[in-house]
Amino acid sequence: PNTTIAFIGLGHMGGPMAANLVRAGYSLLGFDLVPAAARQAGANGVTMAASAAEAAAAADVVITMLPAGEHVLAAYLGDDGLIAAAKPGTLFIESSTIAVDDARAAHELLRAAGHRGVDAPVSGGVVGAEAGTLTIMVGGEADDFVAAEAILHVVGTRVVHCGGPGAGQAAKVCNNMILGVSMIAVSEAFVLGEALGLTNQALFDVAAHASGQCWALTTNCPVPGPVPASPANRAYQPGFAGALMAKDLGLAARAVESTGVVAELGSRAEEIYRRFADGPGAAQDFSAIIEEIRARSAV
Ligand code: NAD
Repeated sequence: PNTTIAFIGLGHMGGPMAANLVRAGYSLLGFDLVPAAARQAGANGVTMAASAAEAAAAADVVITMLPAGEHVLAAYLGDDGLIAAAKPGTLFIESSTIAVDDARAAHELLRAAGHRGVDAPVSGGVVGAEAGTLTIMVGGEADDFVAAEAILHVVGTRVVHCGGPGAGQAAKVCNNMILGVSMIAVSEAFVLGEALGLTNQALFDVAAHASGQCWALTTNCPVPGPVPASPANRAYQPGFAGALMAKDLGLAARAVESTGVVAELGSRAEEIYRRFADGPGAAQDFSAIIEEIRARSAV
């Protein structure tokens, strides 16, 4: 494709996503603050620029994959920011996981400057980024979604237009709130089952085929044994790290607060994962929450 993409943020997710775009024939200009990330991207065929602005000025499309909302807004703004540097009408694809409110603010800034943009957060982790099989949740105008689609299909398998500006982040935050709450529920049930003398396998054999069935149980099962590929079988190496779950539940809590919705379990899940991520859970798979529940239980 005759499209030049500026890719800002070439970390765990951005690095392999950029490499897949190079493989698909796109010209990639990259920038990252960390020299090791920049070196790796260079080795993958990304032409490294001296600054984010330099990359954006020469691009048709700007993709950002940065840690959090404050990084995105800081990279967008200012005299040497991406918005000022890009050619009028540049398409911005913002793929970091950030607050819905920050995504909407980013859209406003883009529109005011004569650019186009979609929020396009991803799920599927580093494994999905490397394989190009991410699920991508997109928010933005219909024609901007169409303009971004071909690129998003290189890095992802399932690309869903969720609605207007911010709708991609809204879908991500709602999905991950389900995930956080359901992993805690599954873990509490296993610990209760253990205390009642049930084997983990027996509870699994029932719940996996009954109304307790869910992804946290049948794919990412928090006890070793029933699902051989789940992180519990490899000492809870992530997977999806506790720190990322705490971050995403924090974004959900922000959305709960700004809308006035009553989400008692979602809010409690944030507290539980925040405590988990302040300790050793930060770098463990989020399913290791079961070990904390077991340790805190007086059984
Ligand atoms: P990461 O920390 O590995 O990568 C972020 C990169 O951005 C780093 O290399 C950092 O140096 C760079 N960076 C920061 N500020 C910059 C700036 N101003 N200019 C240029 N580069 C800058 O993080 P990651 O795991 O790749 O995650 C990126 C985003 O994707 C996050 O919002 C995260 O929540 C989300 N996400 C991560 C996963 C996952 O499993 N890792 C899954 C889904 C979504």
